[in-house]
Amino acid sequence: MITKVLIANRGEIAVRIIRACREYGVRTVAVCSEADRSALHAQIADETVCIGPAASKDSYLNVKNILSACEITGANAVHPGFGFLSENAAFARACAKCSIEFIGPSADAIDRMGNKAQAKETMRSAGVPVVPGSDGIVETVEDARRIAGEIGYPVMVKASAGGGGRGIRLVRDEEELAPSMLAAQQEALSFFGDSGVYIEKFIEDPRHIEIQILADKFGNIIHLGERDCSMQRRNQKVLEESPSPAAFMTQELREKMGRAAILAAKAVNYHSAGTIEFLVDRYGNFYFMEMNTRIQVEHPITELVTGVDIVKEQLRIADGRFLSYSQRDIRLSGHAIECRINAENPSQGFRPSPGTIRALYMPGGPGVRIDSAMYAGYTIPPYYDSMIAKLITYAGSREEAIAKMKWALAEFIVDGVDTNIEFQLNLLRDEDFERAEYDIGFLNRKKFSGSSGGAKA
Ligand code: ADP
Ligand code: ADP
Ligand code: MG
Repeated sequence: MITKVLIANRGEIAVRIIRACREYGVRTVAVCSEADRSALHAQIADETVCIGPAASKDSYLNVKNILSACEITGANAVHPGFGFLSENAAFARACAKCSIEFIGPSADAIDRMGNKAQAKETMRSAGVPVVPGSDGIVETVEDARRIAGEIGYPVMVKASAGGGGRGIRLVRDEEELAPSMLAAQQEALSFFGDSGVYIEKFIEDPRHIEIQILADKFGNIIHLGERDCSMQRRNQKVLEESPSPAAFMTQELREKMGRAAILAAKAVNYHSAGTIEFLVDRYGNFYFMEMNTRIQVEHPITELVTGVDIVKEQLRIADGRFLSYSQRDIRLSGHAIECRINAENPSQGFRPSPGTIRALYMPGGPGVRIDSAMYAGYTIPPYYDSMIAKLITYAGSREEAIAKMKWALAEFIVDGVDTNIEFQLNLLRDEDFERAEYDIGFLNRKKFSGSSGGAKA
């Protein structure tokens, strides 16, 4: 039985997990780097252990020190959050070896989804639609030419070990193929230590729509509907909504995608929370892209429209309990939107803006949720991700959720560092956004400014 959970992460997600542990009735251990001693997560946990210097590789990625911290404090479970060690199969295996419950899927499931070319193969044989492309890794330019010719240009060359938008190249015609393939292979080698690439058809102006699933250790799997994450800048999500406001989204398509996601999870014997990402074209054809075998940044919007506490379910599942819900219990109601608030300057190429928060006012009221680790006087260190808060609104309709978000953004004051709050406001004012007409290329085509003066909804 889980009695004490060590949270191997920092920032808002560490705070989110500590809160869930408290409600679940287990004790918490925070870990922090030397740069994070005054961070909120390090202050609110029952115990805190410093695990190394500021650089992530010496602290939040330091497996040896994290396992030692479990030993010292008697923590018998680890929650990895997102990023850092969350999708690291070797870490999951090391926890198991020390009889520490890894709050996530098995190391084997992480392995099978981590190699993206192999994951696509697994999905294809499970009957899940995948983006048309090569059967696994493409070794030579001759093979690439033949395959690209068969599926038709434009195509994408993608790193099999990839993540975070790295090692991906768009190829418009045969002339570009050889140089782009080489570039993708080199980037893949330097980022992931693995030059393997695969080829897939470039889907024109798709939406990114993902399905949240929950699975227990007894083979029960449910889905919690979809999130539309098409609002992206350089393959990074900026704003998410649930349900998807796309014109093609129907209850029928939702159920079809939900069934495909459950098939995907079954194929790798999945347990815990997970997300299956799909690309969806304008006709509503959907294609498996990848599975994220962890809690996701944007999980709160699903929590609001379903009423399910996803992190608490992760704890229950890891503890060997049955899912609290069956598929029949899950009904989407209302509409939720999340804006990622980053310490960055949109008018200077989104350059990160670490520093001390002098004054802070966070909005509230009915239907407004903030997940953050900020407080007045806190100094945002320069070493980690620039996301400092998630502002989430929930209302009966999309229109109302947007109106709430505009006022919440306008009220939000973070004094001392630059933020993307005004950029988000300008995005929300866009007519195409209001009409829900956007795809993954939207932010590349439109040029929103980030400093339009006073914030007025
Ligand atoms: P989500 O799918 O949950 O929105 P993101 O792509 O925004 O996930 O990534 C969540 C966090 O994980 C971010 O802090 C990001 O920097 C980090 N991250 C994503 N991919 C990788 C990777 N391959 N290696 C390390 N960190 C990553
Ligand atoms: P990562 O592991 O880096 O997140 P993904 O496979 O999820 O890589 O792709 C990242 C993003 O690139 C997607 O969210 C989408 O915007 C774009 N993308 C990926 N594959 C395709 C494709 N075949 N056609 C069009 N866009 C794509
Ligand atoms: Mg992805």
